[in-house]
Amino acid sequence: MIRERHLFGPGPSNPYPEATRALAEPLLGHLDPEFLRIMDETCEMLRTVWGTSNTRTLPLSATGSAGMEAAFVNTVHPGDVVVVAVNGLFGQRMTDVAARCGAEVVAVEHEWGRPVDVDRVLSAHPSPAIIAAVHAETSTGVRSDVAALGAGKGDALLLVDAVTSIAGIELRADDWEIDLGYAGTQKCLGVAPGLAPFTINDRAFERRVEKPRSWYLDLGMLGGYVGEAGVKDGGAGQRTYHHTAPTAMVNSLHGGLTRILEEGLDTVWARHQAAGDALQAGLEEMGLELFAAEGSRLPELTTVKVPEGVDSAAVRKELLARHGIEIGAGAGAYAASVWRIGLMGRNARPDAVLLVLAALKDVLG
Ligand code: PLP
Repeated sequence: MIRERHLFGPGPSNPYPEATRALAEPLLGHLDPEFLRIMDETCEMLRTVWGTSNTRTLPLSATGSAGMEAAFVNTVHPGDVVVVAVNGLFGQRMTDVAARCGAEVVAVEHEWGRPVDVDRVLSAHPSPAIIAAVHAETSTGVRSDVAALGAGKGDALLLVDAVTSIAGIELRADDWEIDLGYAGTQKCLGVAPGLAPFTINDRAFERRVEKPRSWYLDLGMLGGYVGEAGVKDGGAGQRTYHHTAPTAMVNSLHGGLTRILEEGLDTVWARHQAAGDALQAGLEEMGLELFAAEGSRLPELTTVKVPEGVDSAAVRKELLARHGIEIGAGAGAYAASVWRIGLMGRNARPDAVLLVLAALKDVLG
């Protein structure tokens, strides 16, 4: 038996009980009418958390990075200019993925810990095909203003990573003119890792690559998988086999989304904000220094500087051994000098704040 952990790192988070319970329900076949209903409802609920009416909104059957690959492989034509805002590890990953898809990448580099400089990104190239940015940089704990990128994108497509923002902070894909985006289930959605909620609007879909280099992630072929024809003709449910849907995981996502929407998206965002504010205030009261720039700090993922002379890895090891608490190391160059503390999904609660603060005090002595 695995002893339960408090997953207070950068993800995965502890799932909502509704998501966990759904995993124990009887397994359904991927074309069972009961499963098709669950899939339809899941796509509909995903539209709500994305803030979109895009027909093509679905859970891709793989983790967030596959969402990133799907986004680029379906929209980058050979030689397309793709401007990528890089203010952390996941922006960096985007440049790699875009380049592998044949893009001419224009990387707009930022100091880590700071938000994306919208003016610099928008003026980086006169006519990019795509502008890409990470809404919530998990590597640094920073939120960027994707709405401003949408307002200034011109003819370019706006491609957004919402892995750590979805169901944690305000996200309005349609209002902010996000053309396509991907997310993950294991953070604020409060579901185990394994699916990549994805959305793409008509504008981006019409410009897509006809035959992308990836068979599995070809959005043109995935239409039948989620019954896109069925959606269009009033729910007749025309389904074609593309791959075996991970039915248990989709049912679990359905459970998590149901819980979130019953609580209310605004309330869920406010709960994340309150938990993040309390944690950040508590850490500062302990004399610790926060890493992310003030004014752009994510509530769901807090980055804190490891005090001088403290062994970062030893503290994390002790938190796990003594208190069953997982927190994250820093990313990249900050691996040993920053900790990442996530209060996501179910963990965005006052008692979790008190627990992690008390445990940290105990271990730091
Ligand atoms: N983008 C961001 C912002 C992330 O935080 C992560 C994972 O932590 C990813 C992309 C990649 O997602 P996954 O690890 O689920 O493949």
